Amino acid sequence: MSGGTTYGKTGAPSGRRRGTAVVAGAGIGGLATAVGLRRAGWTVTVLERRAALERYGTAFGIHPTAQTALDRLGLGDALRARAVPYRDARIRRPDGTVLAALPLERIERRAGRPELLISRPYLIEALLAELDRLGGTQIVYGSPLTDPGALDADLLVGADGINSAVRTAYFGSRSGPRPIGTAAWIGIAGFETGLYGETWGAGSFFGMTPVEPGRTNWYATVPAATTAREVREAFADWHDPVPRVLAATDPATWIRYEMRHLHPTLPRFVAGGRVALVGDAAHAMTPNLGQGACTALLDAEALTRAVAAARPEGLPAALRAYDAERRRRAQRVAFASRNLHRFMTARRPAMRDALLRVLPG
Ligand SMILES: Cc1cc2nc3c(=O)[nH]c(=O)nc-3n(C[C@H](O)[C@H](O)[C@H](O)COP(=O)(O)OP(=O)(O)OC[C@H]3O[C@@H](n4cnc5c(N)ncnc54)[C@H](O)[C@@H]3O)c2cc1C
Repeated sequence: MSGGTTYGKTGAPSGRRRGTAVVAGAGIGGLATAVGLRRAGWTVTVLERRAALERYGTAFGIHPTAQTALDRLGLGDALRARAVPYRDARIRRPDGTVLAALPLERIERRAGRPELLISRPYLIEALLAELDRLGGTQIVYGSPLTDPGALDADLLVGADGINSAVRTAYFGSRSGPRPIGTAAWIGIAGFETGLYGETWGAGSFFGMTPVEPGRTNWYATVPAATTAREVREAFADWHDPVPRVLAATDPATWIRYEMRHLHPTLPRFVAGGRVALVGDAAHAMTPNLGQGACTALLDAEALTRAVAAARPEGLPAALRAYDAERRRRAQRVAFASRNLHRFMTARRPAMRDALLRVLPG
């Protein structure tokens, strides 16, 4: 399947352009782009800075639109084989009082399918397995792209994350990663809480989602905490099961990262008729809306669908079509996620909580 494009026996649309592509970065965005390009018959080389793929990470929310993107990339069944639905989640106060429901029911009703959660390592495995099955992609590990202009390929895709070398080479350093002054902590506890959603305090929050049987995915921010002990202390008097979830996760497995976003937004996601940016390289966002992986998948599918449909001379037009389809939407999501972060971490939460009770969905 590919958004109306007809594919031949090998998955490549007959009579269309097939060329060589270099994809910088083997994260979710880069691997999904490689899958889409391979299905369109392109010869793909993925350059990955790390010596091996790091199969760590917690869970990603996969919105129904991103599920459709995975369906079109041929990965829908692999997703559904391991993902769990996300339903029945609430926003609470630290004392456990329910303030509102997360809008999951509305998402499911509109899309006809639920939001799903999938562990990052499994999604990476599924993308690698699909590339293996398709053949024709070379992944070169331990190979950071340093001079994008020197590459001799028809298409260069910058999927190299928030510090993108491709973005810097083609757009300079005016847009760059900006810290928002908070660190996030993520982890997976070894028991199932059965109680999901987010708890919003004054300047901090704690979220819990399902991920797979017997485990609970969690994420948290506490502005002042720099150690796992401080994080546990900050949540010690929050409602059950928050302290138990932290107690049941070995701190050696917690991941801490500075929350950053790309600022200011880019004027384009494409350059020079042969370069495109996808995922965090194009629009890194705060994680509050849980859209980092979704937007990377949507970019990858839109880009490769446009490229697959292009005539030999039509790559620049295909890239413009990709930019027109994705740039404003992705930037709107990034903007909304940043605003949600401000709202969630309000220092004086009384007004916020009152608003939450009256706002629809
Ligand atoms: C190891 C890891 C674990 C993560 N865990 C989580 C998680 O648990 N929860 C969550 O919400 N998000 C997590 N993320 C972030 C999330 O995957 C991304 O925000 C989102 O999926 C967008 O993906 P991306 O492919 O655009 O960027 P990324 O996932 O950042 O991938 C970019 C890739 O490009 C590579 N790269 C960077 N520079 C170069 C270069 N110059 N040349 C070649 N390769 C380069 C990087 O090594 C990386 O593999 C994680 C990211 C990584 C890399």
